Amino acid sequence: MVVETTPRISIRDLRRQPSWPAIRASGAVDVEIEVDGSVVTSRIELLFNFVRFGERPWLKCPCCGSRRSHLFLRDGHVGCRRCFNLLYREQAIPGCRWKREVAVPALRATRQKSSKRQRRRGKTSSRAHGIA
Ligand SMILES: [Zn+2]
Repeated sequence: MVVETTPRISIRDLRRQPSWPAIRASGAVDVEIEVDGSVVTSRIELLFNFVRFGERPWLKCPCCGSRRSHLFLRDGHVGCRRCFNLLYREQAIPGCRWKREVAVPALRATRQKSSKRQRRRGKTSSRAHGIA
């Protein structure tokens, strides 16, 4: 499954709807998903963070609780890209060895490194205190 072809809900589209003030007031939106001919309703909570000029709304992933600008519909469930393991089309092209064996692992390594760096940053400052 690829991000581009998976049905999705975006907070941007939601804000453009005439019903947005009511959605904003209730703090959640009900999404109707059709699964095998029957309709399932799924409730998606909204999260807000306050920025300098007002607030920024996000969708809360019902699986992991993270805040997202897009949620995806798959097999009657709602979730984020990470929960559904969705790849972008470029990452998922089957015949492309370079992308599969070089680009995607490199991207993963960068992500791991950046999370390690954040941890290390904390350690470095405490070590610096030790020297001083
Ligand atoms: Zn998630």
